[in-house]
Amino acid sequence: MHRDVERVLYTEEALKERITELGKRMTADYQGKNPVFIGVLKGSFMFMADLMRTIDLPCEVEFMAVSSYGNKSETTGAVRITQDLDMDIENRHAIIVEDILDSGLTLNYLINYLNGSKPASIEICTLLDKPERRRAQVNPKYTGFTIPDAFVVGYGLDFAQRYRNLPYIGILKPEVYQ
Ligand code: 5GP
Repeated sequence: MHRDVERVLYTEEALKERITELGKRMTADYQGKNPVFIGVLKGSFMFMADLMRTIDLPCEVEFMAVSSYGNKSETTGAVRITQDLDMDIENRHAIIVEDILDSGLTLNYLINYLNGSKPASIEICTLLDKPERRRAQVNPKYTGFTIPDAFVVGYGLDFAQRYRNLPYIGILKPEVYQ
């Protein structure tokens, strides 16, 4: 375990098992629909890569990038799209793939923005959900794990751009970010 990590919440094996379950559900739910999976960079890159391997459907993969956190562990509420979609999602079934849902401000903004393109449907798949900190109402259809209010890193999630490469999800030692 990395010395800055206090405790491992989900091992590589636990993540794989849960993601396979999510993929099976989505494969059943989207039969015949040719959905577009939209990963939110950078945090979702590892989740997206593993999730897509469990999806047994004709589908497309897109990425968007938003800036929200900077180098701090608290959101400012300001969301800016720094990379937009390459395709038109009008009349398409869209699934936003996110690493973690916290205040909900980022996804609330993204859903409103993407709804402007008139998709046939839009749903959220988040690996982690921290419902205690919600400030905007967002209801993910697919959630990997509901977690307590702690700052987590690994499996794509960073602190100041570090720790994204850890293969597990762990709670960062508070002294690292305080
Ligand atoms: P929201 O807009 O829901 O507050 O924030 C979502 C974004 O905040 C995530 O995509 C992620 O970048 C960041 N975030 C929220 N909680 C955590 C956390 O515990 N660890 C890390 N690394 N990022 C977090």
